[in-house]
Amino acid sequence: MPKAQETILEIDLKALTHNFKHIKSKLKENTKFLAVVKAFAYGSDAVEISKHLQNLNVDCFAVAYTHEGVALRDAGITKPILVLHPHKTNLETIINRCLEPNLYSFDILHAFLTIAKEHKQTHYPVHIKFNTGLNRLGFNTQDVKKVSQSINNTSSIKVASIFSHLAASEDINERAFTENQIEKFKIVAKNFTKEIGYKPHLHICNTSGILNFPEAHFDMVRCGIGLYGFGNSEIENKNLKPIASLKSIISQIHLLQKGETLGYNRSFTASKTIKTATIPIGHADGIGRQYGNGVGFVNINGKRASIIGNVCMDMIMVDITNIDCNEGDEVIIFDSHNTAEDLASSINSISYELITSVSRRIKRVFCR
Ligand SMILES: *Cc1c(COP(=O)(O)O)cnc(C)c1O
Repeated sequence: MPKAQETILEIDLKALTHNFKHIKSKLKENTKFLAVVKAFAYGSDAVEISKHLQNLNVDCFAVAYTHEGVALRDAGITKPILVLHPHKTNLETIINRCLEPNLYSFDILHAFLTIAKEHKQTHYPVHIKFNTGLNRLGFNTQDVKKVSQSINNTSSIKVASIFSHLAASEDINERAFTENQIEKFKIVAKNFTKEIGYKPHLHICNTSGILNFPEAHFDMVRCGIGLYGFGNSEIENKNLKPIASLKSIISQIHLLQKGETLGYNRSFTASKTIKTATIPIGHADGIGRQYGNGVGFVNINGKRASIIGNVCMDMIMVDITNIDCNEGDEVIIFDSHNTAEDLASSINSISYELITSVSRRIKRVFCR
């Protein structure tokens, strides 16, 4: 790749292929692969990522909100798309665009049944979610009978899958809790299957579930962060490649004399003569105000430069006193060596948050 000449998010589709194949190699032959492409495919570009994965023959996709699914349909994605968090106001759109809703409460189930009937649907594919301990979305496991009664009463919908979500699959200290969730899921899936009289697909694993609980892959897995190159552990990270690199350039270099201050509110004062670089990326781009004043860093010519002063909306300033560099030189905010995980950890955050925060105004550039 040529060096960056402005702030860009470079997306390596070869790395995506690598991650997809690596994770797929962990699955049994007939286990289905659902790619989670919510939040612009974790801050990259949902359309390009989904097209690439559709070409690699992924089985289906999931998004969080309905309009994310609509954007994929508009772009020509034809595989099934599960909407993880539909709202009552979107159910008509879901049907019109052949999206498949997660039905997680009686409220949303009954609302969907009404709309499906109005639209004269038969056997419309839906996904029933049970809460096994995350306590976020999902029917209570005690409501199996009541849920199945509503479903057995109608031919408008058909349960394509039964699923649940793990609370701490990446945490080895929570193994017992996760195993308990998996057991609960097995029981609820068995009872529910018996009640409805046919066998939907079962799934519970996110990326860390796939890697740490191979016995719980069931019929399908839901992989997000792993596709984007993070395995939530040092060992797993080695087998994956971060697909996104956030790059920028040095816009200007300043020499500050002892006693001079830098940036808004003069939060930084030079204690000696120092050299600073101004970089065109700021809190409007996902580098939040938690960074700055010595917290967080970028990489210039192979060296770390710490972010000093307050983060501005469109710029940060970094200390380059000991770095040999010039205006126009490339700046790496994160890439496959200087990872988003490393930078995020400087503010006690995680790769997920940093990569999904890269604002839409930053140009996406694809390496194929
Ligand atoms: C986001 C999400 C996933 C993907 O999780 P990763 O840890 O990124 O693999 C899977 N299932 C549900 C319900 C989710 O919300």
